[in-house]
Amino acid sequence: MHDQEALNLTEAIAYWREQPLPRALMALQEVAWFNPAVRPLAEALGDVGLGRAELDDAAARLARFAPYLAKAFPDTAASQGIIESPLRPLGALQPVLAAYYGMALPGQLWMKMDSHLPVSGSIKARGGIYEVLQHAESLALEAGLITLEADYGCLASDAARAFFGHYRIAVGSTGNLGLSIGIISACLGFQVTVHMSADARQWKKDKLRAHGVCVVEHEADYSSAVAEGRRQAAADPACHFIDDENSQHLFLGYAVAALRLQAQFAAQQIRVDAEHPLFVYLPCGVGGGPGGVAFGLKLVFGDAVHCIFAEPTHSPCMLLGVHTGLHEAVAVSDFGIDNLTAADGLAVGRPSGFVGRAMQRLIDGYYTVSDERLFALLALTAQHEQICLEPSALAGLPGITWVLAAQQRDYRARMALDAQQLERATHLVWATGGSMVPEAQMRDYLAQGQAALAA
Ligand SMILES: *Cc1c(COP(=O)(O)O)cnc(C)c1O
Repeated sequence: MHDQEALNLTEAIAYWREQPLPRALMALQEVAWFNPAVRPLAEALGDVGLGRAELDDAAARLARFAPYLAKAFPDTAASQGIIESPLRPLGALQPVLAAYYGMALPGQLWMKMDSHLPVSGSIKARGGIYEVLQHAESLALEAGLITLEADYGCLASDAARAFFGHYRIAVGSTGNLGLSIGIISACLGFQVTVHMSADARQWKKDKLRAHGVCVVEHEADYSSAVAEGRRQAAADPACHFIDDENSQHLFLGYAVAALRLQAQFAAQQIRVDAEHPLFVYLPCGVGGGPGGVAFGLKLVFGDAVHCIFAEPTHSPCMLLGVHTGLHEAVAVSDFGIDNLTAADGLAVGRPSGFVGRAMQRLIDGYYTVSDERLFALLALTAQHEQICLEPSALAGLPGITWVLAAQQRDYRARMALDAQQLERATHLVWATGGSMVPEAQMRDYLAQGQAALAA
């Protein structure tokens, strides 16, 4: 960075540190911010630089790989090799949530259970696996191993594995991305290295090592693990680095979720249109997962869908990046915020500049949630819906209360949302991980949840 830029950045941060919203974040309060710069899709889609053609291309690639996935991962055989998660109503939890927050919650509350995606049990089974498949396909096509019309089931062979064994894949992760990329890469035959940040759980590292993945443990946080992975991979032409902060492939892999959700809503006869708005609450780390899903949702449902990001009070990186307009130039540490949270999938101190810039006029708002709240909601969800999630995956649950809160009248007026539309609305909580959490760890989470509820 040039001296002048560094000086300007220092001045900008000093300015923002005195503003009301950053001050509330610095005090670790739970806050919401609905961005007045949001625009209709027709106006803002150009910011992304991707569109329906790219989304359909990604969906077609996943369909080509379905015969391979059905063979390589028996838990995808029932869905013919399509990696997808259930959609579930939260009929029992919705009144409990209303009582817990002490407010009426009209509309229908649903959960998208990416926590139960096959292969790796988190939202990362979308983007992470997609990018590895995309890379494997381009190598295999170039080598003449397959054609676009071939049955990709042939890639589950020793010969194909030996071929991919000449190539390397590297990634930096707080845990779940490493888990997804490690498992699929090792299965295809790649040599794969996962750079894990300090907050990654031991069981995730153990599981990867059991798959023959090289796990490098870092003392520092996610951004440092990514930087180190990127540096090591750059020196090796046979190595593909999966860049969680900037990758369009990852982004498109996540976006395909919207097409699948569209079919699931149709099957449940849930309407999404101007009179039946859809609100979607997405836990946000670096931004690729929620950004990609939100991009797909906007393409499919247009202005009838309202996407809102959720972050821990200790890691509100996307909120700070978009609110200040400084994007990846700022980290939560610039605001004295420590990036220490039990929501390990969201423990990211610096946002993706690519996602922040591409999506800032398409994301309605952002809010923060405390770790204590995540644990309390984890316990309530387990108790009333028998769904066990990891802490990160609960971040979407308070979203409905922010949208309906009395103080957000301006936001609802700006979106022309009246009481009737809110009665007919669907609120979708994106549950991003949890089905692979070991039992002992889950017992510990539940105990922390009970303690948080009692406090
Ligand atoms: C990674 C992750 C997210 C957020 O995805 P980003 O791409 O980092 O924003 C949310 N929840 C869980 C459980 C995750 O692992």
